[in-house]
Amino acid sequence: AKQHGKNTYRFFCPDAALASLKQLELRDDLHRAIYQKQLRLVYQPQVDARSGRLAGCEALVRWKHPEKGWIPPNVFIPIAEQAGLIVPLGRWVMLEACRQITLWQSMGYEVPRVSVNVSFVQLLREDLHQVLLSCLAANQLGPDRISVEVTESCIMQGVDAIDQLKRIQKSGIRVALDDFGTGYSSLSALKGLPIDELKIDRSFISEIAEGDDARAIVAAIIAMAQRLGVEVVAEGVENEVELNYLRERGADIIQGYFFGRPVPGSEFTGWLADTASH
Ligand code: C2E
Ligand code: CA
Ligand code: CA
Ligand code: CA
Repeated sequence: AKQHGKNTYRFFCPDAALASLKQLELRDDLHRAIYQKQLRLVYQPQVDARSGRLAGCEALVRWKHPEKGWIPPNVFIPIAEQAGLIVPLGRWVMLEACRQITLWQSMGYEVPRVSVNVSFVQLLREDLHQVLLSCLAANQLGPDRISVEVTESCIMQGVDAIDQLKRIQKSGIRVALDDFGTGYSSLSALKGLPIDELKIDRSFISEIAEGDDARAIVAAIIAMAQRLGVEVVAEGVENEVELNYLRERGADIIQGYFFGRPVPGSEFTGWLADTASH
């Protein structure tokens, strides 16, 4: 196929063509999914590294496609971002998380805090601060009940995005920097940014058992975060070797399969029993 030259080459690339066709199909389906209740949230526990008590949870979105079954967020979130659908999807996520907190409260359970993921597109296309406040207000919740997780791509959108994050933080909603270590910003770049919490990316955690390089990186991130007064969450913690190292180094919060996988809100009550206010 390659001999036919540059212009025709793409016609002989069935994988890419098929992939873009599938994307188009999914985009239409996703539009329907948002308005036809095919989305779900699942919740993964975040555990205090020292006390072992529940510190909060992260809300993660799931899509059950009527024909294709469960589609992972790594597939549909990028599509939603490209198609502008992340704004309504993100609103649904924020509102649903607040509803779930209220539902747990009405059952007598107190959840310390729920983290929601937000895309840089949401920061650019809408007044995220106002959307968050109205979701909280609609459920009569205080700002300390939720936090938002942003990636470096959010911070690299410029001053408007950072101002937006500052407003969010100022109103009492925590801001967490997700997937830390995978992007380009250095630890020192964190200074002055509106960040309460830093989440060390899973790729570093999963190498803790293997060698000194990953250990050194993890130790440096924790030490610097402590100096900056930022809490450290380790994500993707799967075993005791990782857990013990993180504890030894002073990580604040542990998240990962070792403690628990993400589960629907109805199942998460098992985690909430400890802190039940009844
Ligand atoms: P993330 O924000 O980094 O979320 C953590 C991912 O790691 C989740 O995958 C979680 O299930 C998985 N995970 C947690 N503990 C472990 C572990 O111990 N081992 C392993 N191997 N994996 C673990 P998930 O739910 O498939 O989400 C993937 C990504 O999709 C998220 O990465 C986030 O970037 C995005 N996402 C999920 N929900 C939302 C949402 O509501 N809005 C936005 N904008 N993005 C979302
Ligand atoms: Ca996250
Ligand atoms: Ca992450
Ligand atoms: Ca991620």
